[in-house]
Amino acid sequence: MRRFRLWAIALISFIAVTGGATLKKSLSLSLCGLLGFNSLVCSANFSDDRANAAMPPASRNLTTVVAANGDANSTNRRNEALTSTPAWLPENPLPDAPPAEQPTIGDIPRIRKPQVNLNLQQTLPTDFRVSSQMPFSSGKREIVMVSPSTGKEQKYTVNLPGARFQIYEAEFKDIGAIDSSNLTGTARQVIETTELQSLSEFKLDFQNNQLSEVILADGTRGEFRQGRAVIQSPDGQPLETIEFSQAIGTDGSLAASPKSAGQQVRQQEWQTSDSAATLASSPNCSNTVGSLLGNLAGTMATQGNRLAASKTEKTRIVGLALSFASGALKNNANSRESLQEVTCEAPVQCDEKRVSGGSEIRTDLFQVPAGIDRQVTLEYEFFEIPDTIELYYDGNQLFSDGPKSSRHRRAFTLPDTAEYVGVKLTGNTNPDTEWWYVVSCSGTAIAQCHDNYAELSLNNEAIVANETQINIISREEWQARKPIKDDPNRSYEAYTEPLKSVLDTIVVHHAGDNLLERRDICIVGQEMQIVQNYHMKETNRADIGYHFGIDMVGRIYEGRDIKIKGSHVAQGNTGKIGIVLLADLDERIGDFEIEDDSITSEMENSLLLLIEHLKSKYDIEYLGGHRELNQDRQCPGTLTMERMEDWRSITKLKDPKPVN
Ligand SMILES: [Zn+2]
Repeated sequence: MRRFRLWAIALISFIAVTGGATLKKSLSLSLCGLLGFNSLVCSANFSDDRANAAMPPASRNLTTVVAANGDANSTNRRNEALTSTPAWLPENPLPDAPPAEQPTIGDIPRIRKPQVNLNLQQTLPTDFRVSSQMPFSSGKREIVMVSPSTGKEQKYTVNLPGARFQIYEAEFKDIGAIDSSNLTGTARQVIETTELQSLSEFKLDFQNNQLSEVILADGTRGEFRQGRAVIQSPDGQPLETIEFSQAIGTDGSLAASPKSAGQQVRQQEWQTSDSAATLASSPNCSNTVGSLLGNLAGTMATQGNRLAASKTEKTRIVGLALSFASGALKNNANSRESLQEVTCEAPVQCDEKRVSGGSEIRTDLFQVPAGIDRQVTLEYEFFEIPDTIELYYDGNQLFSDGPKSSRHRRAFTLPDTAEYVGVKLTGNTNPDTEWWYVVSCSGTAIAQCHDNYAELSLNNEAIVANETQINIISREEWQARKPIKDDPNRSYEAYTEPLKSVLDTIVVHHAGDNLLERRDICIVGQEMQIVQNYHMKETNRADIGYHFGIDMVGRIYEGRDIKIKGSHVAQGNTGKIGIVLLADLDERIGDFEIEDDSITSEMENSLLLLIEHLKSKYDIEYLGGHRELNQDRQCPGTLTMERMEDWRSITKLKDPKPVN
């Protein structure tokens, strides 16, 4: 089960040339020097050398890394840390100082050439895997890639597929752990251990898919615009300005970079197909994104080489950072494995998809349609072999469960600004594991129904209960059938006692799955009609059996006349007010083909309001679910029963007495 992969895509054009790279290695090396880093030959060689970079596994808690990513201002924190423990002494703080006067630090003598070729990507591990993808309300997506063998981390901020692809930020961590002895040739001669250590962390900013700024951990900045790079010290002092040659582009743009004509054409084609659906579903997704990232990496490598030849140390370090980042992009492009979790699919609508799988880490994004008081419901099943699930909103973890073996359902209310939620499923390493989950946004359809309801409520006579208004939609309004009062086979029995003394129990039911395939949740009263028809036609009742119904929008309906004994509890309807929740609230293994409903906040609020209303009129003592009275019943479903103790606590009502 392979999905489209965003990065892989970008990189697919490079993958094509990686085959047989070993034999071509020495040739490639020399060609790299000739053609520059951005040649395809060069990239093939890089991926071949990746094993050299393997480091001992770092004891690193990925969960912590991911959790910390929700915090916006990590750059500032880094700056503080670095200010307190400077990683290196500025050898040459003044611009244009001669390099010969710089003290040599470390064992490797510095031999610099005007143009060098830094194969820094050789030092990268190539086992980077996507450890998390988090959607933000802005529509951006943060992708964290971690190398399990070294703990090295790359973090990218891109937009969600489905829009014109953009890269906004790239961050790198622990680069200082590079062992320069892994470097070969020119790179080894050029790079000083101390410089690598100073590159412990750095960040790149992009604007319009062009590099705009490199920010080192100590605050050193390199601004890239209009064909030049301006290097500034941490306190903002300009250190050096590097003019790039015309070949790189007078404005530093990708289009002007020395690319093949074919690549430029592809990029232009891609830029014109900016419809979300086009990019997400097109087989060209990988080509277009890959082409873009390839161009970017190529330009960055060229710029990095130019800067690394500077006499100014800060400039060199910015150049090394660029070269390294360029290599990372190339490596990612060359490795299907490392990038396979990044989806090229557009986020799907919240209710459209049931996801299932096995031993894998899978991340999916779901678009939450606009609305208010929206709830996201996550339902999942892990079967016997334990798995783990996490739910994210805007970079924050809302929920996690596992690793364990369970089936569960949880609902979450989202902020009004939320546009996306992300689910990360970590399947057991046991290849036999199976799991599925469904994300549904119950509040979305409901939000669309609200306007209807508001209009209806205005025309409806309000009943005041405990100083709270409660609107009950009358039988006439939902066009109920008239009860059959004169059929001896159908019970229609009016209470003879005063209602206040006889009505002492509220019984909660759910409609179950028999209404799901036929209903439209926005049509006022349609679900009541379905239930009434079922009761009168299929079960030979005189009328709908329940006294009230509540739908997922929170609308309360009048059911059977309250003065008439209900028909909803087997062998014990006397004194029992029946309320049906118009939803399928039962979790039954295997019924996921028909998606279950959830108890929406609207539904729950209305239920509690109705109970308070009934308490104010009658001497209600007991509240329970149908199965608590008829113990052979599934009704009112597991989701309802999960809430029952809370409802009894809120309403101060007691457990009902079982009938049988
Ligand atoms: Zn029931």
